[in-house]
Amino acid sequence: MTTVRDPLERVLGAKTAKVLDDAFGLQTAGDLLRHYPRRYATRGELTELSSLQEGEHVTVLAKVALVRKLPMGGRRGDRLEVIVTDGTARLTLMFFHKAGYWQRLLRPEGLGLFAGTVSSFRGKRQLVHPDCEMLPAAVTASGATAELAAEYAAELIPVYPASAKISSWQIAKAMRTVLDTLDLGEDPLPAGLRERHELIDLGTATHAVHRPLDVDDYRKARRRLKWDEAFVLQSALAQRRLAAAALPATPRPLLSGGLAEAFDARLPFSLTAGQCAAGETIAADLACAYPMHRLLQGEVGSGKTVIAVRAMLQVVDAGGQAALLAPTEVLAQQHYRSISAMLGPLGLAGRLGAADTATRVVLLTGSTGTAARREALTDVFTGDAGIVIGTHALLEEHVRFNDLGLVVIDEQHRFGVEQRDALREKAAGGRPHVLVMTATPIPRTVAMTVYGDLETSTLTELPAGRSPIASHVVPADKPHFLDRAWTRIREEVSQGRQAYVVCPRVGTSDADDDAEEPPSEDGAETTARRPPLAVLDVAPALEEGPLSGLRMAVLHGRMPADEKERVMRSFTEGHLDVLVATTVIEVGVDVPNATVMVVMDADRFGVSQLHQLRGRVGRGQHPGLCLLVTEAEAGSPARERLEAVADTLDGFSLSRLDLEQRREGDVLGATQAGRRSSLKLLSLLADEDLIGQAREEATAVVGEDPDLAQHQPLAEAIAALLGPQRAEFLDKT
Ligand code: ADP
Ligand code: MG
Repeated sequence: MTTVRDPLERVLGAKTAKVLDDAFGLQTAGDLLRHYPRRYATRGELTELSSLQEGEHVTVLAKVALVRKLPMGGRRGDRLEVIVTDGTARLTLMFFHKAGYWQRLLRPEGLGLFAGTVSSFRGKRQLVHPDCEMLPAAVTASGATAELAAEYAAELIPVYPASAKISSWQIAKAMRTVLDTLDLGEDPLPAGLRERHELIDLGTATHAVHRPLDVDDYRKARRRLKWDEAFVLQSALAQRRLAAAALPATPRPLLSGGLAEAFDARLPFSLTAGQCAAGETIAADLACAYPMHRLLQGEVGSGKTVIAVRAMLQVVDAGGQAALLAPTEVLAQQHYRSISAMLGPLGLAGRLGAADTATRVVLLTGSTGTAARREALTDVFTGDAGIVIGTHALLEEHVRFNDLGLVVIDEQHRFGVEQRDALREKAAGGRPHVLVMTATPIPRTVAMTVYGDLETSTLTELPAGRSPIASHVVPADKPHFLDRAWTRIREEVSQGRQAYVVCPRVGTSDADDDAEEPPSEDGAETTARRPPLAVLDVAPALEEGPLSGLRMAVLHGRMPADEKERVMRSFTEGHLDVLVATTVIEVGVDVPNATVMVVMDADRFGVSQLHQLRGRVGRGQHPGLCLLVTEAEAGSPARERLEAVADTLDGFSLSRLDLEQRREGDVLGATQAGRRSSLKLLSLLADEDLIGQAREEATAVVGEDPDLAQHQPLAEAIAALLGPQRAEFLDKT
């Protein structure tokens, strides 16, 4: 009997096991069983001898027509030439050793499967040392058993992701060995659930996915196995939510007559309906005796920060402190400035002009000077600082809060789970409430899986009076188009507006990237491309060329913090016309007077990243313009990506596009700390309904049986999914 936990070495022998491990990281029988066919072929489909391309790795079905032993030309021994045909074209198979062995195997008239890389010799296509599998004679004698041959040709053959070391049918053979002795144990999906959703049992599905009888067979199997992936993951997340809800937190109910109310009264605008709804939900969450874990998502400029400030003030009113964690120093500084401005006298405790109830806002980043730092740390420690804004410097050990009640994390995608946890540790006694803000819209299914432990609120509308952003792709090889871009900048500047020019890199040396690696398009990065354009090259070129005479500065991650701060302030205050920058300006930078953005080498950025960047213009009453400059050719995938960005301002549809471009495993990989993605069949895009239903079912099951004592097979499946590391991570909640 083989169980899913058995090492492949024991089931298949050391040699095959090693090949499977090296090629695909498969170690156990269960791993192998989840190495699903990429597709299914009928034998007829395999046989296109006439369409073989040189260099292609192919599998063909053909009949042996001619076998010839030839002398090796100078060396000892023979080589064997075998000509096979499918009736329309011919192919040569060459064997340079063990000629006798191959001659015995490859009998004329025999039908076989041959796999190898197509090469060409004297104008003829050939496979050198192909993998061969001869078919049973009964099938070969097609005249007598035409029906059997037809059936054989129509049978579905699983086509597995294969490698040069192991072919698809060798994998199929290994699979058969495992399947023939497999004992799967009890089904992890409860019987009731299977009935409700008309799912076949695990054993049937496992056999059918690898050896389907017909199309219906594997469809049912795949649907059932997708449910396994979705349901087990959702059950793990449901357990995590339940555990989190059982933790104590200090309730911070909304008090009347406090800072939160005074802040509302000060706002120069009225909140959008979405802001009101999210605000009320968060206010209610904060009043609970267990910690809030909420994701607040909304387009750039949808007004998330205002919501966060209200939440922070509610906590301060209730006697606690709030921390706002920003991903970059520039952003932390900007939050500090804009939040201080929003609060006015409400945030000036201890200073002239402060309101009676005022609190204090402090900034703490890696570059805060020693004296200021000491003062800030004291304020944080005594509790005088109600609102503490900073970067990861806030996570350092010596930062002690008096009573940390709320952690707001801006732009989630920059922070790892560990950092979230580090800040949570800082609350004495109970856990702080946590609000995560993201402007990268997250498709619902991703929210339900990757961020499955968080509840979500979404701001769907922008505040009224926003100007639209027009976006265009500018082909870099058309000089007059590019010239037009620079002219547009000059025009805007002459009207008193400001502009950004964004480049993928700081300088031309490799060490100085601000930007993350651009998304790779299926290994396209292996072809040599010129290095991405760099701020330090582009800025002087513009200064001497098309933008000469304009007030210009550069901003990038390699600059000292105070220098960055100085440049940013000078741009904000309108002393600069053009800022040439890396993606340091990607998140949150808010200069309403900036109206144009030119993105150089735009194809080097991800879709969501471009959308983020573009959100930096058109934030005031003047319409924004975003020009995406690229060398990508019309019709190329890269160019189409850019056209898509130019065509829509809908961040949600763009984030779906982003997701399509990355592999889903990568999306999950970010949180799955080094483990291979557990999702093999499930598509976060295509299986939205299924994931939703699985989440409901999982929540119900875990709600009734939190420890899964009555659902042992499910508990085991979760343990297997998470592995030792992940289990620990879940405990850390
Ligand atoms: P986000 O953080 O979601 O990108 P912000 O909270 O920074 O958005 O808001 C962007 C700008 O819009 C800020 O200048 C803010 O003061 C303003 N704003 C926020 N809410 C509203 C509203 N309801 N009406 C008008 N302006 C608003
Ligand atoms: Mg923001």
